Amino acid sequence: MNYNKKSVKDAEVKGKKVLLRCDFNVPLSKETGEITSDKRIVASLPTIEYLLKNGAKVIACSHLGKPKGEFKKDLSLEPVAKRLTELLKMPVAFSHDVAGEESVMLANGLKDGELLLLENLRFDPGEEKNDTELAKKLAALGEIYVSDAFGTVHRAHASTAGIAAYLPAYAGFLVEKELAIMGGALDDPKRPFVAVLGGAKVSDKIGVLTNLIDKADTLIIGGGMAYTFLKALGKNIGKSLLEEDKVVLAGEVMQKAKDKNVKFLLPVDVAIGDRFAADCEKKIVDVDSIPDDWMGLDIGTKTISIFAEAIQGAGTIVWNGPMGVFEFPAFADGTKSMAKSMADSGAVTIIGGGDSAAAAEQMGFADRITHISTGGGASLEFLEGRELPGIACLLDK
Ligand code: ADP
Ligand code: MG
Repeated sequence: MNYNKKSVKDAEVKGKKVLLRCDFNVPLSKETGEITSDKRIVASLPTIEYLLKNGAKVIACSHLGKPKGEFKKDLSLEPVAKRLTELLKMPVAFSHDVAGEESVMLANGLKDGELLLLENLRFDPGEEKNDTELAKKLAALGEIYVSDAFGTVHRAHASTAGIAAYLPAYAGFLVEKELAIMGGALDDPKRPFVAVLGGAKVSDKIGVLTNLIDKADTLIIGGGMAYTFLKALGKNIGKSLLEEDKVVLAGEVMQKAKDKNVKFLLPVDVAIGDRFAADCEKKIVDVDSIPDDWMGLDIGTKTISIFAEAIQGAGTIVWNGPMGVFEFPAFADGTKSMAKSMADSGAVTIIGGGDSAAAAEQMGFADRITHISTGGGASLEFLEGRELPGIACLLDK
């Protein structure tokens, strides 16, 4: 996968109509329909403001929720247009259709430095089908395409991939940053390169495991997936999360680490609970002494120190997947310590994965992490080293 893509700064945008794919998939209140967090809208401002300041006519578009190809009033992007008006302190035009007559008329009426937002792309059944007709219609609205919706680059949709067949395609600042930092870490990491994997299931992370084991100097495994590895080592894991059908694979991964001289770390002690509940009874035990009826819900204190030490002196750290059931405060220590160790490390630090990102943010470490990837599924596929259609379609540098 080539991460070296032309950015919006490489494009001549003055006087041009720029079709800008944003991620305005914002959370909405179930009761009032109001936007409950405008974080994604705020994140899109640098690219929008750059384009406006440089004299482009900006036609922004996005999906919101899952309307399944039909108009749903409560998933309209109109409230986003309103919020953009407030944030940019300027009028923002809104088209009530996706790529129909109203959009054509409003797009053609734009002056340099003006902004138009189209209605929810997924109201059109062609969007998720990557329909050629819709891609052509969207392309016809503009002269240049800019992709700034990292969260959807793993999907080949009309607005994320299809459109690039008809317009010169560039990365916006958000996508450019993901490519520079995550792509840089995967292509040419500052070493030692430490990969930390956790979360619930081995099966969710097989792709990431196999990609990173070829690149990392150290692989650290925590979270629920660690127990399948411990099982492969013949340990009794009690009622901890186990994927029976992945035990062999776990053994193979450990063998591969050995063959490639990758340092491989598993928990040596764990925090266990007598049931899966926030108020369960808690103990910390060595991994050789997990009682039959108990389950591992976090890494233990010795493990926290060992993992913290392994991270010190790293050049690059990529983390995907919490170290424990951090949603239960009694089992959040491992995840919190990992976030803190990363923040204190001085390394290039990257967090990919929805839950790990949320944990680091909740726990107050976000501003000391080099990069928290904004795309849940997209960042996972990125870490798997897969070709992402919304990136592959952009112009190479
Ligand atoms: P991410 O979204 O960062 O990729 P995952 O979705 O793979 O992470 O995993 C997150 C989930 O893993 C969390 O909800 C957490 O409760 C769960 N988890 C972590 N450790 C354990 C464990 N020991 N047992 C059960 N679930 C766990
Ligand atoms: Mg998750």
